Amino acid sequence: MVQIKTANVIFTEDGAPFSQEFDDIYFDSNQGCSQSVQVFIEANNIPQVWHTYGEETFVIAETGFGTGLNFFLTLERFINFKQQTGSPLKLHFISTEKYPLSKSDLASALALWPEHAKYSNELLSQYNLNEQLQTFSFTNIEVELTVIFSDSAKAFASLEVEHKGLVDCFYLDGFSPVKNPDMWNKGLFLQLARIAKKRATLATFTVAGVVRRGLEEVGFKVRKIEHEEASQASSEKRAEKSQSLTATFIGLRKGKPLTGFKVRGKVESSKHATIIGGGLASACTALALAKKGIQVTLLCKDEQLAQGASSNAIGAVYPLLHQNKDPLSDFYQQGFERSMILYQELLTQGYQFSHGFNGLIEVSYKNALVKRQTLFCQKEAWPVDLIHGITAQQVNEISGIEVNHPGLYMPRAGWVCPPELVNAIVQAAVDTGKVKVKTNRKFVAVEALDNDRWLLTTQKGKKQEQKQVQNLILCSGADSLAIDALNDMPLSIVRGQVSQMKTNEKINNLKTVLCHKGYLTPVNDNVHCIGATFDKDDSDLSSRTIDDTYNIEMLERCLGDIGQWTSEDVQASKARLRCCTPDHLPLVGRLPDVELHKQYYAHLRKDKNWHYTQAAPLKNGLYVLTGLGARGLCSAPLLADILAAEICNLDYPVNEEMLFNLSPNRFVIRDLIKSKN
Ligand code: SAM
Repeated sequence: MVQIKTANVIFTEDGAPFSQEFDDIYFDSNQGCSQSVQVFIEANNIPQVWHTYGEETFVIAETGFGTGLNFFLTLERFINFKQQTGSPLKLHFISTEKYPLSKSDLASALALWPEHAKYSNELLSQYNLNEQLQTFSFTNIEVELTVIFSDSAKAFASLEVEHKGLVDCFYLDGFSPVKNPDMWNKGLFLQLARIAKKRATLATFTVAGVVRRGLEEVGFKVRKIEHEEASQASSEKRAEKSQSLTATFIGLRKGKPLTGFKVRGKVESSKHATIIGGGLASACTALALAKKGIQVTLLCKDEQLAQGASSNAIGAVYPLLHQNKDPLSDFYQQGFERSMILYQELLTQGYQFSHGFNGLIEVSYKNALVKRQTLFCQKEAWPVDLIHGITAQQVNEISGIEVNHPGLYMPRAGWVCPPELVNAIVQAAVDTGKVKVKTNRKFVAVEALDNDRWLLTTQKGKKQEQKQVQNLILCSGADSLAIDALNDMPLSIVRGQVSQMKTNEKINNLKTVLCHKGYLTPVNDNVHCIGATFDKDDSDLSSRTIDDTYNIEMLERCLGDIGQWTSEDVQASKARLRCCTPDHLPLVGRLPDVELHKQYYAHLRKDKNWHYTQAAPLKNGLYVLTGLGARGLCSAPLLADILAAEICNLDYPVNEEMLFNLSPNRFVIRDLIKSKN
């Protein structure tokens, strides 16, 4: 049985109940009725709205049942309406009450309104404070009253709501926000939006800013109304009643794309961050944060940096571009430009890593790709210096070998040696004096301590260490799948094996990267890299001969025998795990509180265009940068800049739409829209 706390009520000389908890009267015994009628009933256009109402049951939801005065006044009007019109309409009145009156106090209060005695006696006879949710019915009238003895937001949260909403009309009673600030909270407003039907109306006695803004933020269109009879009473609540609020639930803002979500909250800048991971994502993040003046500790689980997906001998740097601009290509274009600036900057500063920025050709080696190339060029979606079509002859000239197919050429793209690049970036970060690198530190667990502190457990050898950290960034690549804090993220791993092939006279001259179904790189250290295999959910890190054969055959099938390779030319091969997302875009930013998202954004189940203007509920100080797939070389620097902007509370380098497309909470929101949650 739930323990319900009853209200601490005394009665004034004129018989009006007075709340000792809230230091206010429930209603003014002289004016109570007319005020309630004006503020709640007339402002909601009752009973007129019933004449044109097309559904079976009209649903009213109230906060603060108190003595039930609003209910009885509504009931009176409903009975008259039914008698006059013979309408078959039913009424369901749902009210909430955190501090119910004891039965004897309720009886005393209701005695003030003898005109409601018939129904108030029926209510009293059923009134039972042992039940948290009580349903009352009345003789010969199709009215159901449900009172939930609980805080309003919680009570409304417990209501089951169909797709089209539940409530036609709201009475927001309850003591004023000054006397009862706890009730008028965001959780309540969110619940109102969740249970409202489209164009539901609302009325309340208070015009306080916190209420107006709260309602507007969840999709109510709010209007102040003036009442002709100004109140004489002295209490704050009564004084407010010369003005009151009405609102209509709009919710929907047609045509607004999802980019309107403010997916990030305000982030306080901090002086220290801890990064988990030793690959490209960690390196770029450390450098980006150090440049903003943040002290960084980078924890790498291996003895050396870049042992995971960043460990391949050669990796291509180029954007993923579609024929038409779309969010995916937009991101990779911007990411590519940012990467090239960083890599050139490092080289200019004297940091070294093997590279060749001599261009990359996507070879149109079959008819479908030739057609694609024609369309690609006709559409002119991208600048020519980023990508343009070239003939077979040009391909041969530019690549330095006989490919004999046309292709799409990216003159500024190329290749780098990822482990050397990672070490160069980390060195640049360390050289700022802000970054410490600790190797052999394996991530074990992270636990929330309070609002924005985290307890991080790591392991060095056999020894576990615990530390309180304030900004924890998980750049954990494929290891992300083993981190509990990332369980809600729809990450997957894809194994890829790259084969290093001995160069020969025929292929030695290759100057550009060639992409086909896979790719082939120019020579570095006497080897070319060809790849890569693509095995979902396979976490085996040992290389396989069969995969080398696949890589050789895939190259041959697409571009012919241009390398003249057999399996004997394989010098080495490496299998590594890519961390991928379902929409092929990475994750960057603060991690979402998924349960709160389900509450805050619940209305999206009803209306995918619903526009929630508040900052999303994200975890303070717990960030992720992962899901880079096979494209980290052209995305990590931009992602690191985004994260640094977030941590330092600076302007983001990308627009709001792109932020949403990269934000870890996008999947929770999309699932709600698809009503999957
Ligand atoms: N509608 C009531 C009537 O007709 O008698 C008047 C109610 S009185 C002004 C406000 C009511 O709100 C009180 O009964 C109070 O206990 C209730 N209340 C206050 N805070 C609440 C909360 N958080 N949730 C639900 N009810 C609350």
